[in-house]
Amino acid sequence: MIQITMPLNFLGTVYREIRQALVDMGEMFDLLGQPAEVIDAPNAPDLVIQGGEISFEAVDFGYTTDRAILTGLNLRVGKGETVAVVGPSGSGKSTIGRLLFRFYDVGGGAVKIDGQDLRDVTQRSVHNALGIVPQDTVLFNDTVGYNIAYGRDGATHEQVVSAAKAAKIHDFIMSLPDGYDTTVGERGLKLSGGEKQRVGIARTLLKDPPILVLDEATSALDTETERDIQDSLRDMGAGRSVITIAHRLSTVVDADKIVVLEQGQISEAGSHEELLDLGGRYAHMWHTQAAEEEMEEA
Ligand code: ADP
Ligand code: MG
Repeated sequence: MIQITMPLNFLGTVYREIRQALVDMGEMFDLLGQPAEVIDAPNAPDLVIQGGEISFEAVDFGYTTDRAILTGLNLRVGKGETVAVVGPSGSGKSTIGRLLFRFYDVGGGAVKIDGQDLRDVTQRSVHNALGIVPQDTVLFNDTVGYNIAYGRDGATHEQVVSAAKAAKIHDFIMSLPDGYDTTVGERGLKLSGGEKQRVGIARTLLKDPPILVLDEATSALDTETERDIQDSLRDMGAGRSVITIAHRLSTVVDADKIVVLEQGQISEAGSHEELLDLGGRYAHMWHTQAAEEEMEEA
């Protein structure tokens, strides 16, 4: 008995950790199968994208029944809009992304894309509609070209190159010994955080999803690289619906709307200017971070 349950438990733990990392959703499910919690309804149709409007409607959610993580959460991201979610660590920001990918079903309320409840459509079609740039882009032990091409089945070399150019990683790749055929990852050439992030951006650009989740996508980078990549992310967000989860507030100033999440509820929402005028939690976070950045620069 022990011999059987131990490896299963181990796999369960590994799987949960991978899932937690929110990496390459759709593809990961192909590799690992569907999570036990979430199963397609019989004969579920595919999600039909009509612009990519996201709505969280009175969403209640907890990973366990004894602890609520999100309570009565209402969040709408209109077609082509960028909504930033900020708030203290542990407030449930990444959980919003996980629910959008339907890694878990909500306990109450609904998550919808273009009016379709995620529980009523196939998970594969949901994953196809979504792209994520996570905090740490995971590279495969394969060529840098493969790592980008992975974003889309049957991508041509020209498409890979054009995605790499848009992610501003093409020149770097051309400087490598074997160009796009250079092996990267653990057993190959090690890329810096910024370079990996650009490969991740290129991969996502190639996938070309109507909806994007940026989960602290630049928080692992130094300020200069972050600014640079932020520009690429902003370009990528154009014409898509974007949820951007950010630690550094300087990266969310331009969002159409900023929501402050505290203990699983939205405590403030508005534009950067509106929230500064409000003089509440966001304004406090903003002034604290500005002071910290001045200290760093001094
Ligand atoms: P944030 O991204 O805002 O830092 P998360 O959404 O990741 O926060 O997590 C919200 C809360 O849910 C945290 O207290 C976290 O510990 C808890 N949590 C996250 N994932 C799980 C899980 N798989 N099982 C149980 N609790 C979890
Ligand atoms: Mg998080």
